[in-house]
Amino acid sequence: MKTFNYHTPKDVKEASKLASTSSAFLAGGMTTIPSLKLGLATYKDVIDIKSIKKLSGIKVSGKSVTIGATTKHAEVAASKDVQKAIPALTKLAGNIGDAQVRNRGTIGGSISNNDPSACYPSACMALNAVIHTNSRKIPAAKFFTGMFETALKKGELVEAVEFEVPEKADYQKHPNPASRYAIIGVFVAKHKKEVNVAVTGAKSSVYIDKDLSKKLTSSFSSSAIEGMKLDHSEMNSDMHASSEYRANLVSLYAKKAVEAC
Ligand SMILES: Cc1cc2nc3c(=O)[nH]c(=O)nc-3n(C[C@H](O)[C@H](O)[C@H](O)COP(=O)(O)OP(=O)(O)OC[C@H]3O[C@@H](n4cnc5c(N)ncnc54)[C@H](O)[C@@H]3O)c2cc1C
Repeated sequence: MKTFNYHTPKDVKEASKLASTSSAFLAGGMTTIPSLKLGLATYKDVIDIKSIKKLSGIKVSGKSVTIGATTKHAEVAASKDVQKAIPALTKLAGNIGDAQVRNRGTIGGSISNNDPSACYPSACMALNAVIHTNSRKIPAAKFFTGMFETALKKGELVEAVEFEVPEKADYQKHPNPASRYAIIGVFVAKHKKEVNVAVTGAKSSVYIDKDLSKKLTSSFSSSAIEGMKLDHSEMNSDMHASSEYRANLVSLYAKKAVEAC
């Protein structure tokens, strides 16, 4: 029997105050609940943030799309406003896991957990996202610090993620056939002055592929990166894909993303 204190704070301030080194926030529970059940994590306090209204919802302006932390993947996938502003984001959200995961899992939970194969971190990096927490604003480039690690401090809560609207963007994923997590995922975003190619699943944490980004900034065409060989020395190698195979997939899927833009 696993025992813990279950809290339902009324606002962000109370939620943050309850946090300790042995607590977890409960958003959709898609990672927290299985981790508890399998004994991979134990918490003294589980702080349910689902009913804090401020944390949910989508706002779209001409230049940005801001998604509240407890907004579910299914809500992003179904949003006509997001579809109009950044269609690549609805595509990404609509291809996360399965219907059950999309109806429980949240953007805040996804980025705070920073699974090396999660999809949203790549969108954050490519779309120059700013992570709004209860105490500061963190650029995506400084938020994802390592495998399952972020810049969040104890008691710091993600409130929303603000994405820059690009000129064009696309997300291509080679999914694990069982979980749908990315064996590799490539998010290409063309902004006014630069192109960002963010990669998930290939290394211990999401990253910007500088070589692909540079080539595409000079010339935004699939021929500019056709057959490009990438360094695989720091890439993951496991039962699903060798590092060489992953490197080849990243190059190929970047090309597919450019063609789909
Ligand atoms: C079968 C399966 C398939 C999946 N497939 C994919 C996939 O294809 N692509 C993909 O990207 N993801 C995938 N996921 C992950 C899923 O989409 C969830 O986003 C992820 O599991 C986090 O779950 P959650 O949002 O319910 O957060 P929770 O499980 O509730 O929380 C996860 C962690 O984040 C912290 N946290 C939650 N919210 C906040 C917040 N606002 N501020 C600070 N910390 C917070 C919690 O303390 C906890 O440590 C899959 C998950 C499952 C179970």
